[in-house]
Amino acid sequence: MSKPLVAVVKFAEAYQSVRRALELSDGLAGLKPGDRILIKPNLVSWDFDLPFPPYGVVTTSAVLGALVRILAEEGYSDITIGEGPLMVPKTIGQAMYKELGYHQLREKYGVKLVDFNEEKFVKTDLGGLTLSLAEKVLEADKIINVPVLKTHNQTKVSLGIKNLKGCINRASKMHCHGKDVDLSHTFPHIAEKLPVALTLIDGVFGLAKGPGPTGTAQRLDLLVASRDLLAADVVGAALLGYRAAEVEHLAYFARRNGGSLDINDIEVRGEPLAENIHPLEYDWEWTAENTGPLGYAKRGIKGLAVRKYDSTMCTGCSMLFNPVLVMLMAAFKGEPFPNVEVISGKVQLASPGFDYTVLFGMCPYKLNKDNPHIKQAIAIKGCPPDLQEFVEAMREIGVPCDYKDYVQYRHYIFHRYKAEDGFDLGLFKIDNV
Ligand code: SF4
Repeated sequence: MSKPLVAVVKFAEAYQSVRRALELSDGLAGLKPGDRILIKPNLVSWDFDLPFPPYGVVTTSAVLGALVRILAEEGYSDITIGEGPLMVPKTIGQAMYKELGYHQLREKYGVKLVDFNEEKFVKTDLGGLTLSLAEKVLEADKIINVPVLKTHNQTKVSLGIKNLKGCINRASKMHCHGKDVDLSHTFPHIAEKLPVALTLIDGVFGLAKGPGPTGTAQRLDLLVASRDLLAADVVGAALLGYRAAEVEHLAYFARRNGGSLDINDIEVRGEPLAENIHPLEYDWEWTAENTGPLGYAKRGIKGLAVRKYDSTMCTGCSMLFNPVLVMLMAAFKGEPFPNVEVISGKVQLASPGFDYTVLFGMCPYKLNKDNPHIKQAIAIKGCPPDLQEFVEAMREIGVPCDYKDYVQYRHYIFHRYKAEDGFDLGLFKIDNV
């Protein structure tokens, strides 16, 4: 049996690099003239209020623009770009397309730009799991999947299979983070249903401790292309330092659909794999007592136990948890906190012995509202919760949380990336396609 083929290519000039990746992987062989092609980038989120370093977080516009140009040159004219970004609380897909220069692709090549969140979703049986998939995705003849080469604090890596989670609606995304399901056994079903003809992993930047902008990006200058979705992910995971067998959603996909997790069962063309492995950590380390990130212990923070998030915390809460951690860290002025526990997600239970218990989000509130261990509940009940409400509630118990500290942190993480190290915002614009 022939081995699946994966190309690994150095990224230099975008058009030439994408061309080479497609040639080495025979990447367009699955497309037919007249196909309705849907390109699914990873545009998980953006922030139009605070500085947002996009490196390793969203697909580079340079790679996407080059891909569209090549498709147009090869005669494919029915191209849609679709994504369902995080709603904060409203959807921002069209604003992101504008920010990232995609309008140029619409003007020059007639590409349709679709925000799935604004369109219809269809309840779809995905073999033991029902999720609502974007109608536009179901209508496509072929899908080109363009994820980023990134790690993920809940799933270790987020590559081609994970990127397709952006094709379902908000309720289905929440369902994937449910307490009675394993996150890694949910979203792989989506890929099974879709006609993914090509996966092009954008590794211009890689991201440690992803998937969001609080992770740490590195310029890697890599592209991975394959017509075999699992094989692309196996190689992508290897480049990030992970064996596919230790990434549960890849193992689950392979168990259900066949396909090998062994890198030796893949024909890799282009750059030697061994010379391009950049091990990147996927998660934040917590104290052994589960009282907060290691940084809290190093600072000597006492009287506070922030329990580590788990996979039942969905993206809405995840994006807010980082501001909470940052504000609590900054609120520490040397005196112990007033014996506070913070819990989140759908399974964490309040512990005895705390004077205050912060229930961060509707989920922990519902689960713990009658918990006899709680002396005084601080319920931030929204779904997702409201940060201002959190700040005010903390101030009422003498913890001086301040959103300005988070704003300062965001400026810090944006400015730590320097142009001389290859962090070029021009890669997130489209010109001269
Ligand atoms: S409260 Fe948070 S974890 Fe619960 S459903 Fe809403 S966003 Fe998800």
